[in-house]
Amino acid sequence: MKNLTDYKVKGLKVILRCDLNVPLKDGVITDDTRIKSSIETIDYLINRGAKVIILSHLGRVKEESDKVSNSLKPVSIRLSELLNKQVLFVPYTRGSEVETAINSMNNGDIVMLENTRFEDLNGKKESGNDLGLAQYWASLGDLFINDAFGTMHRSHASNVGIAKFLPSGIGFLVKEEVDKISKVLNKPNHPFVVILGGAKVSDKIGVIENAVKIADYVLIGGGMHYSFYKALGYNVGLSIVDDSSLDFCKDIYSKYSNKILLPEDIVVASSMTENASTRLTTYKNINNNEIGVDIGVSTINRYKSIIMNASTIIWNGPIGVFEINKFSTGTRKLVEMLSSSKADIVIGGGDTIAALNKFDFNNSKAHISTGGGASLEMLEGKILPGLEAISK
Ligand code: AMP
Repeated sequence: MKNLTDYKVKGLKVILRCDLNVPLKDGVITDDTRIKSSIETIDYLINRGAKVIILSHLGRVKEESDKVSNSLKPVSIRLSELLNKQVLFVPYTRGSEVETAINSMNNGDIVMLENTRFEDLNGKKESGNDLGLAQYWASLGDLFINDAFGTMHRSHASNVGIAKFLPSGIGFLVKEEVDKISKVLNKPNHPFVVILGGAKVSDKIGVIENAVKIADYVLIGGGMHYSFYKALGYNVGLSIVDDSSLDFCKDIYSKYSNKILLPEDIVVASSMTENASTRLTTYKNINNNEIGVDIGVSTINRYKSIIMNASTIIWNGPIGVFEINKFSTGTRKLVEMLSSSKADIVIGGGDTIAALNKFDFNNSKAHISTGGGASLEMLEGKILPGLEAISK
């Protein structure tokens, strides 16, 4: 697959698809990680004299009124500050203003168009991968570079459609994500451990199915194991259960009980609040009015002995309700274990990264994926449409 270093970009109009989908509150960016992660590719292109035309989506745009809170203008201002260079923001996704701005660019200039999802108001043209729209955007440039890892699992006009009409390649961010995740999936050092938590089993069925084939252990935590317990016939009280996944849980556990580990002790609470009363119990003794909120001490120690011996680790999904301090011990201990681990580590998922930040994760060797959905689909063994479009 081609990447941006395979092209001579001087003087070329490069359509650069970034993932600048940052959280905004009242027009203020609350976390600019995604903008910072895009800088390396932008810098490379402008330093080599390309004319850089940036496309990105931001949030969801379902009605006309969503436009105000989902404009990319604040993102263009922050990018300009970070680069210490003008970023000309054009508040349209197509039309004469866009074309005039692009035709007036000098080598090394940057233009950012408005949120690609504004085109969804016009018959879902962006999300539906409308080829007319893709062809129009492609007509604005000479080369297409996709550096938006977070949308690689989507088939949209701005990431898949455009690639049909222009020479294409991936940017540095996508290359790093794909290389790091592919390495642990294709050539893992063993023991290889996959840790899965979070709220719903149904979101991760594909990952569990692939993980049991390639990993030595799949450690389950968070809200997921209550579906396994229920499928095995135990009472889970008021704990979260994904009823649509019970047959799957029963089936996969019966085939892979040697690899899939479920917590043996858990913390149950009277409510999902900081002042709830809690007790430590086994999965066989959950009362009707109790909610499972965290893994227990024996489970933490058992998981620790496996994790600290692992050479490759993938983690997706908090293993307890870590947002509530009282229920956060398991997730905090896991963050501590991964901080001191020497294994090849890949971590993904928005809530999981929030847990890393909350508990001061410190392991510069670990790969923290910028794309929750895209990294999950890679872990499922799927080919990402955004990558496939570039390869073709
Ligand atoms: P996901 O997006 O599927 O990774 O889910 C993340 C969410 O799962 C976090 O907000 C956690 O609070 C939540 N979670 C973790 N453990 C539990 C649990 N035992 N019960 C309910 N939710 C949980």
